[in-house]
Amino acid sequence: MRSYGVFIDGEWQVTAEQYEVRNPANGEVIALCAVAGAQGVEQAVQAAQQAFPDWSARSYEERGEILRAVAAGIQKRFDEFAFTESQQTGRCIRETMAHDIPATISVFEYFAGIAPAIHGETLPIPGNYLNYTRREPYGVVAAITPWNFPLWLAAIKIAPALVAGNTMVIKPAPTTPITTLMLAEVMTEAGLPRGVFNVLTDPTPGTLGDLLTAHPKVNKIAFTGSTAVGIRVMQRAAMNVTPVSLELGGKSPFIVFADCDFERALAYALLANFFAQGQMCTAATRILVERPLYERFKEAFVARAARLQIGDPLDPATEFATLHKHEQLEKTMRYVQIARQDGATVLTGGNRLTEPPFDKGFYFQPTVLEGVPVDSRVACEEIFGPVVMLFPFEGEAEAVQRANATEYGLAAGIWTQDIGKAHRVAHQLQAGKVWINCYNMIPPGAPYGGYKKSGFGRELGLHCLLELYTQVKDIQVDLSPDYFEWFG
Ligand code: NAD
Repeated sequence: MRSYGVFIDGEWQVTAEQYEVRNPANGEVIALCAVAGAQGVEQAVQAAQQAFPDWSARSYEERGEILRAVAAGIQKRFDEFAFTESQQTGRCIRETMAHDIPATISVFEYFAGIAPAIHGETLPIPGNYLNYTRREPYGVVAAITPWNFPLWLAAIKIAPALVAGNTMVIKPAPTTPITTLMLAEVMTEAGLPRGVFNVLTDPTPGTLGDLLTAHPKVNKIAFTGSTAVGIRVMQRAAMNVTPVSLELGGKSPFIVFADCDFERALAYALLANFFAQGQMCTAATRILVERPLYERFKEAFVARAARLQIGDPLDPATEFATLHKHEQLEKTMRYVQIARQDGATVLTGGNRLTEPPFDKGFYFQPTVLEGVPVDSRVACEEIFGPVVMLFPFEGEAEAVQRANATEYGLAAGIWTQDIGKAHRVAHQLQAGKVWINCYNMIPPGAPYGGYKKSGFGRELGLHCLLELYTQVKDIQVDLSPDYFEWFG
């Protein structure tokens, strides 16, 4: 079994206490991790602060070169990363092999390559002046990540933050810290100077997060997690006026028009809802189907959902595995109960799997609901489990109105072969990411983030590099031989 300390100032530090990280599929302990405590936070922030002058003064070529070496280091341990990510999250290994690890590698490569895009501007202003801007790093970035895509969600913060010249303290979710700790090993081998990247772990949600978000020496906070915690992060950051970016929850619509490519829409509807057992911020849990297609779509979707191969996440044949934790299972069961009370029909699923070999995990069937009242909590709140609801609609206007009837605004899907309709609808949707005839594609070069209570700030792409991890300094130089005299 692995045993980890905290990673501070380029070294592994043993802490007085450790806690157990378990495989959610069977409850087995897979690692012992450190309890960092307040002292760990102080040491890590200080190390990051001390490393900042040297790191930020290095050229982007040098920083980019190290990120490329990180990408290569992950590639070298590809199978181990994929296995560990599945083991700690409970997500299928076919997902971590096909998505998480390759996507993580390409994020490091992308930001290594795009580093030269960090540059200022020369601005024409009235008078005899030279006016130019510089884009400078913030300093110490605190990153806080959730448990569903631990490595990739860490990478999309780490790569742009570091290449822009910031240093970092990262706090992974208590139940999924291992691949972020493995990343610290890869970073060291890649030649990252000590103190630039620090990892803290703790078993109790909020302990380290509360300290980091209110720390006066943290210069920027990058948070991904639930809207409730995001609100708290923002409140605490306000005490020091620390800038934050928030990637929060969602309740995304998936709009299927009658003229869509049916098989394609169906395949993506399954992907959009049952990948990661529905534990995705972008899960398209509100499937809106145009009335003429509704019955056909319902029948096919329910049949396909019921056929998903449920099993051990580490078995490459498994398509659908355990939920990540007991609280998530209970929450999912609670919402299905509410749906039943509100008069909804469970078309398939709706139950926990309690027979061996599923009894040791948190397995819950892929679940499809119909007849959920639009104002029901089930239709409005994020469940973060494999629970999908189908709604019929008539025409574009109703589709848009229903799609936007949520306090979230992370993502949306549109299915139609009518190009004009697709764009018309896309322009009216209140969501930071709209997919037309595809879903859940998150390439490193395109901005990703939410409207409304799904957060603000855009991760990935040039937007993220410039807007989240650099700040603008304006420099004005008087070129005139005369001077401006106000007094006397
Ligand atoms: P969570 O909000 O419970 O936890 C996220 C992180 O915040 C964890 O590391 C947790 O330990 C930490 N945390 C807890 N209390 C804190 C506090 N007081 N201060 C600072 N940090 C604190 O979320 P979760 O259950 O780990 O993940 C699921 C949520 O994340 C869902 O709502 C999902 O939609 C969201 N999510 C969003 C995105 C996105 O890109 N928008 C991506 C993945 C997940």
